[in-house]
Amino acid sequence: MRPFTSTVFAEMSALAVKHDAINLGQGFPDSDGPASMLAAAVDAIESGGNQYPPGIGVPSLRHAIAAHERDHYGIDRDPDSQVLVTVGATEAIAGALLGLVEPGREVVMIEPYYDSYAACVALAGGVRRTVPLVRDGDGFVLDRSALAAAFGPNTAAVLVNSPHNPTGTVLTDDDLAQIARLTIEYDAVAITDEVYEHLLFDGRGQHPLALLPGMAERTLRISSAAKTFACTGWKVGWITGPADLVAAARAAKQFLTYVGSGPFQPAVAHALRTEMDWVRANAADLARKRTVLSNALRTAGFDVHRSEAGYFVCADPRPLGYSDGFEFCREMPARIGVAAVPVSAFVDDDQPWRHLVRFAFCKRDEVIAEAAERLGSLR
Ligand SMILES: *Cc1c(COP(=O)(O)O)cnc(C)c1O
Repeated sequence: MRPFTSTVFAEMSALAVKHDAINLGQGFPDSDGPASMLAAAVDAIESGGNQYPPGIGVPSLRHAIAAHERDHYGIDRDPDSQVLVTVGATEAIAGALLGLVEPGREVVMIEPYYDSYAACVALAGGVRRTVPLVRDGDGFVLDRSALAAAFGPNTAAVLVNSPHNPTGTVLTDDDLAQIARLTIEYDAVAITDEVYEHLLFDGRGQHPLALLPGMAERTLRISSAAKTFACTGWKVGWITGPADLVAAARAAKQFLTYVGSGPFQPAVAHALRTEMDWVRANAADLARKRTVLSNALRTAGFDVHRSEAGYFVCADPRPLGYSDGFEFCREMPARIGVAAVPVSAFVDDDQPWRHLVRFAFCKRDEVIAEAAERLGSLR
């Protein structure tokens, strides 16, 4: 685990604290999720829901997750064998990889990637094969020839994150179709990290890979309450998929944490059932914040990429005279009182990503306005 001893978030957040900077580095909201969900958690604590929940999750949450899959995507899941509650999407990713990847087998993933992917593949003894996103206008697209080249007879799994962190890219239907074709051709499994499934902007909709022909029986779909309901500290996530693959992830999961987040599970069940209007309003709000921060970055002199979903926008500070994102992020908290993270922290090949910086916009309007003002002083 030596390559994974420290994270860029710890470094940049410490700098933010030291210089009293606005922290647009780490992606957590600074306001609460739906009030009725918070009340349901308080209620669960006060009414004795404080011991180990069942290993696969409390029944009300597993049923709510199955109902959510049916309502939003028309997928039917058996809440007892095809749904597994995890300690956040983070544990779902770890459980799926540890359960499904044998030592020496390969895992295809998009680069840049969420930082836990590389560490979990290493924990499983697997080998990562990265497929870069490449610039296309003001957005990013999957490098299709690299995708085809990354698959081979040793591929165990492909790990797909759309909407994508850190870029805010939503993979196109053609991208998903090619991933499905290769996954089937090489008889691999797909693990999809869809934690931003409800935070797509500008009329876009989520298209789960599991819905493509031939994929239902080989896809584990991962989501979480963290981003959907603005409760990143609760760590309630889940996996849905065919019973045999869910069982593999469950076997690993039970020895990672066994269980977690007991009183938060019924609260998330309540939110999945009753608070999707809050989620839609929140997504519209995030789209607006995305636009405000993107415009502020552009005004400050950055070359700003299109963010289509999620919590983040990526910006290029080269027009301001910075060619190294790490250097820029180490300097910014002291210089202007804003913290961000370099995208090169999420890649193997940092050459194409060296310059790029990720900013979170999941913050209160006044915080974004203050950050915009400070960024304005960069010129
Ligand atoms: C936030 C995030 C996670 C982690 O979700 P938790 O439920 O907090 O563990 C996983 N994947 C991506 C892409 C994320 O952005």
